[in-house]
Amino acid sequence: MTDRMDTRQNRQSIIDAGLEMNATGLNQGTSGNISLRCETGILITPSGIAYDKLVPEDIVLVREDGSCPDEQVPSSEWKFHFAAYRAQKTANAVVHNHALNATTLAILNRPIPAIHYMVAVGGGNDIPVIDYATYGTGALSDLVHEGLIERKAILMRHHGMIATGPTLAKAMWLAGEVEALATLYVNLLQITDTPPCLPDDEIDRVLKKFESYGLREKA
Ligand SMILES: [Zn+2]
Repeated sequence: MTDRMDTRQNRQSIIDAGLEMNATGLNQGTSGNISLRCETGILITPSGIAYDKLVPEDIVLVREDGSCPDEQVPSSEWKFHFAAYRAQKTANAVVHNHALNATTLAILNRPIPAIHYMVAVGGGNDIPVIDYATYGTGALSDLVHEGLIERKAILMRHHGMIATGPTLAKAMWLAGEVEALATLYVNLLQITDTPPCLPDDEIDRVLKKFESYGLREKA
């Protein structure tokens, strides 16, 4: 079966996003991974090849049953990408990285509270932290699924973060916003353990504004 989403352009957009993620300091080396939802499965970065060495043919189409073309090895974290799409039905892109400040907070099991109204970009009044499980395991996929039912972005204990979006550009934008919020929170924690937060009813108002006006896509 041919997959209309499996185009050279979509494959290249994953490589471009990976390069952008490293250039902006959101990720280091080969540790992150990026996928797009397709008709028959997902397109995802391969295992262990640096983004600047990737060509569109290297991107792996992993089918719903977990199979992929011979001799291709998808990112070892492909399973939780499927889990993310199961939880976030409107997501068409998933971005995962080990951004330094987001991961710092994840290690300390400190969800990002409503220190700034932009925390609502994650879909609620915080950016939560999911428990730790070994990478590549079904246990980690289950935790990712659970965490992304209520949020578009999560931190992963002793690991990193995941951001989802209706487009790859929006998922990348969200990943950048989460790292910016994490940086802000890390800064605040150097001054006080309990920075002031916005009340839930204000976050609800912001969530409604985001819904009605939508987030402007950044190129
Ligand atoms: Zn990872």
